Amino acid sequence: MSKPEEIQKKKYEPFQNPKGVHDILPADQEFYTYIKKVVRHRARQAGFRRITTPIFEFAEVFNRSIGAGSDIVSKEMYVFEDKKGRSLALKPESTAPVVRSYIQNNMNQWPQPVLLFYIEPHFRYDRPQKGRYRQFWQFGFEIIGESDPALDAQLIQLAIKIHGDLGIADFFSLQLNTIGTPESRKKYAGILQDYYVGKERSLCEDCKVRLGINPLRLLDCKAEDCQILAQMAPQMRDYLDKESLEFHEELKGYLDEIEIPYVENQRLVRGLDYYSKTVFEFWDKEEGAQNAVGGGGRYDGLVELMGGQPTPAVGYAAGIERIIANMKREKIRVPSKDELHVFVAQLGNEAKKKCLNLIEDMRESGIKTMGALGKGSINIQLRIADKFKVPYSVIIGITEVREGVAIIRDMKKGVQETVKMDKVVPKLVKLIGEKNLDRYTPGELLYS
Ligand code: AMP
Repeated sequence: MSKPEEIQKKKYEPFQNPKGVHDILPADQEFYTYIKKVVRHRARQAGFRRITTPIFEFAEVFNRSIGAGSDIVSKEMYVFEDKKGRSLALKPESTAPVVRSYIQNNMNQWPQPVLLFYIEPHFRYDRPQKGRYRQFWQFGFEIIGESDPALDAQLIQLAIKIHGDLGIADFFSLQLNTIGTPESRKKYAGILQDYYVGKERSLCEDCKVRLGINPLRLLDCKAEDCQILAQMAPQMRDYLDKESLEFHEELKGYLDEIEIPYVENQRLVRGLDYYSKTVFEFWDKEEGAQNAVGGGGRYDGLVELMGGQPTPAVGYAAGIERIIANMKREKIRVPSKDELHVFVAQLGNEAKKKCLNLIEDMRESGIKTMGALGKGSINIQLRIADKFKVPYSVIIGITEVREGVAIIRDMKKGVQETVKMDKVVPKLVKLIGEKNLDRYTPGELLYS
């Protein structure tokens, strides 16, 4: 047997995360927290209540709703089998799961419409590139149980309000269209297929496939040749049903009333099958659809398609990573609550014991406190305090323990004073200022 020291230590390669996913490091957490707070605040103001659906669902939930011909289902879904051979999928979006939950939990018995919002991670096997990830966060709103264009207008208004709070509203234009009822759309799809007869060779590979299963998608393809053909294609409006067109006019009237500008975009179709009537997206004013920040629309047929009673609905979802990218580009700063108030430096075992209690008291009072409680000299500890950019340090050495006092040091001014142990917390509270404390009661925390 070899001696322990002779055992060769294996050198491991460090792990990397899979392509298309990323860690949310502390500096970015501040953006996520801020965005979530804004969303929660605006959602509550408008009567929305939060829902969280599971990370995975039966794959059929998405196959049936989003549609087999959509990019999401045909190419981008993470599908796997569980141990009993059932087909499950990581959720690529949340409207279908929310509708599944609406039906399963008999939400049609709740006062209608049911207003729900979510802030959730989603998963798509997309080609990773700027603004496109395989795990990304969306917040979204669903209004289920009422059909009125005033609701579509209110939802758009809410989305813009949130974009405004986050400082990015001006960079996006609202693109608006109606895609009619499924019946009238089917008729138009047939017209489109006829139009493309003989033109297939000019289409991109994706559109050649889409033509048979989802011809409307050819209208918003980004490939140049496809765009040229789409521009000359028969116009959807000429084939849509009267009711959808009237609904659209009413919606525009409401948007005008609340002074929301929009771009009528007859080639906006959205990639998901479940939409009917209203569809809309917020496009980057410079980069267009490529960097849309969010999109939504009406899905009056979806509840029935998922096994419920016919129930009208409208929803919106926005991508949080794209919002953050825009905020960073514009150098929009979010309030940081991570900054510490106090660093505790100590020397000797007795001091360390005193510090444990003191640190606990400070935190309970809302003073954000860090105590490394290491073995370094006071000077070394104060240098650490400098690196953490704390405004104050509390220093307790052997003499201070003996005399029942502590030193409070103003790190910026480089001045310090000695105070009685039981006066340390009140003194710091005064120095830091009541409004800057991180104080909460658990009840408030629920709604913060
Ligand atoms: P969709 O419903 O697919 O239009 O998605 C709504 C919003 O979610 C988009 O406008 C993006 O902001 C965001 N989003 C969708 N897919 C991704 C992705 N793969 N990576 C990052 N954000 C995404």
